[in-house]
Amino acid sequence: MNQDQKKISLTNRSKVVSNKKMTLMERFYLPAIFKGMSITASHFFKREVTIQYPEVKRPFSDIYRGLHVLKLDDEGRERCTACGLCALACPAESITMIAAERKEDERNLYREEKYASMYEINMLRCIFCGDCESACPKEAIFLTNRTVPSEYERADFIYGKDVLVEKKDSRIDVSKRQTPEVLAFKQDKSKSHNN
Ligand code: SF4
Ligand code: SF4
Repeated sequence: MNQDQKKISLTNRSKVVSNKKMTLMERFYLPAIFKGMSITASHFFKREVTIQYPEVKRPFSDIYRGLHVLKLDDEGRERCTACGLCALACPAESITMIAAERKEDERNLYREEKYASMYEINMLRCIFCGDCESACPKEAIFLTNRTVPSEYERADFIYGKDVLVEKKDSRIDVSKRQTPEVLAFKQDKSKSHNN
C-alpha cells in the first residue's frame, strides 16, 4: 500500500491478532484444561437457573401478558361493544370482528346495543403487547397470566369467542391489571373514546 493511501475502517471493532509463540506450559494445554474444568465444577455449587418444565412451572406475574379474555359484566353479559378500537390499536393486525345489533330478547347476553357476533384473535400474529387492553374503553378485553398452548395446525391458533369469552361459572380475576391510573383514564368522559 502506498503511503498516501489511507486504510478505510468501516467500524472500530477490528482487533490485531497476536502471533506470539506459545510457551512450553501453554503447549501442554493442561493449565487451560484445569481452568475450564474448575469453571464447570464451580457451577455444581451454584443455584440452578433451569427448571424441569413442563413438570415444574414458574409462577407468572399477575400482570404477565398472556392469553386474552373477553370479560362479562356482573350480570354475565358480554362487555364488548364491537367498537373496533382494539383492532385499530393492534400493531400486528391480529384482531378481527363482526359487529351486530342486539335484539330485544338478547339484553341478558350483551351489555350494549351493539356487540361482536364474531371476534377472533390470531395468536400466531399476536405479540402480546397489551395495546388492545389499553385501548378498550369498555373493560372488555384483558390479557391474562395464562399461556397459549402449542398446536399442530395454524388454524388452531385462531381463537374465537368460544375460547376468548370467559365462562359465567369460572370468572377470571383481572383486578391486578386494573391500576387506579388506568381506571381513572378509562372513566374520564373528557376523552372521546370513553363515551
Ligand atoms: S396483545 Fe398486542 S398484538 Fe396481541 S392482539 Fe392485543 S394489540 Fe394485538
Ligand atoms: S376495544 Fe373493547 S369494546 Fe371495543 S371491540 Fe375491542 S374489546 Fe370490544
